[in-house]
Order: sequence, then C-alpha cells, then structure tokens
Amino acid sequence: MALTFDDGPHPQNTPHLLDILARYRVKATFYVIGQNARRYPEIVRRIVAEGHELGNHTWTHPVLSRQSDSTILTEIDRTQQMIWDTVGAVPVTMRPPYGSFTHRQMQMLFDQRNLSSVVWSVDPEDWRRPGVSVVAQRMIQGARPGAVILAHDIHGPTIRAVPAALDGILARGLQPVTMSDLLAWPHWGPRGLRYVGRATTPYQG
Ligand SMILES: [Zn+2]
Repeated sequence: MALTFDDGPHPQNTPHLLDILARYRVKATFYVIGQNARRYPEIVRRIVAEGHELGNHTWTHPVLSRQSDSTILTEIDRTQQMIWDTVGAVPVTMRPPYGSFTHRQMQMLFDQRNLSSVVWSVDPEDWRRPGVSVVAQRMIQGARPGAVILAHDIHGPTIRAVPAALDGILARGLQPVTMSDLLAWPHWGPRGLRYVGRATTPYQG
C-alpha cells in the first residue's frame, strides 16, 4: 500500500512528517506543487535523500478539467523541470488536483509526455479537518494491499495523525511503499518524458 501526501512542501509540516517517517522507517510519495517546490528546494532534496518519492501535482494546482491541453502541459512541464533542477530526477507519475482530469486529458498527457496519472483509493478527507484521531482511523480502515491513501502534508493535524495511522497499518501487517514500488516501476524517469526549456539528460537511476 502507498501513503501519498499532496500540496507541499510545507516549511514546518513536511520536515515534521519526514522525521516521523524516518522513525518508522516507512517510505511515502509526495505530490508536490511546483511553486512550493521552488520555494522550499531544501525540503524537496531532503524528501529524495531520505528515500521517498516525488510526484508531479502541477505548478499552480488548477482544476485541470477546465484547462486547455497547452495549459496542462505547461503546468506539468514547469514542475518536472523544477524537480529536475532541484534533485536531478523526474517523477514518473502525476496527480491531478482534486482528481479533476478527463479521460481524454489523461490520454493526451500520456501520449505527449509518457506520464501516468494517479489518483487514490482512500480519501480520509483530512482537508476538512475532522480531527487527528478521525484521520488516523480512516487511514487505518482504508489500508489494504494495493491501497493508495491520500493525505495532505500542509495540514498540521494530518501530520499528527500519521504516528497512530502507521501504528495501525503496521499492526495489520501492511508495509507502506512508494507509488513506484507499488507499481513495480523505476522510481524516476526517463519514461520517454520530453521537456520544455533547457535540454537535459534525465537521471538514469
Ligand atoms: Zn492537491
């Protein structure tokens, strides 16, 4: 199963979460917003240095289903480029903000950039701030082999729910892994990705 955290990095909450994940020796996937990644590059580097995975969550977090194809590609490309510039690697998956993405757009992005779109199977609705214990319980209840849990590392209560959630998930014999591990894919590109701007050679690891 995979724990995924969207919308960061956040200057306090994301480092706090990384401390917790390190204590539990658990890897997660961070769908970062490109603008935030530009603002906090040291946190992006720490995410990768500690064995976690990055995903692309667009540059400005728009409702993609209302955007043109060229806007979608710009949102994705700017974020891929920023991540490449920061850590020398590119994500292999993207997550559309709000899960709002048409099938045609998903296919367009895959055809144009060979980038797969990933949503989730468990939504604890942590953004509604239902309270720490409710978020933890929803994560535990949704956890099963192959589950993809959505959470947001910009919310303090979500971070405070993670230790109890991990206690429950690990007690059930489940091992949280990154999205690529769940899919048995390489953690990073190249996957036929094309770039705008500077020509770069994608990281091969
Ligand atoms: Zn989001």
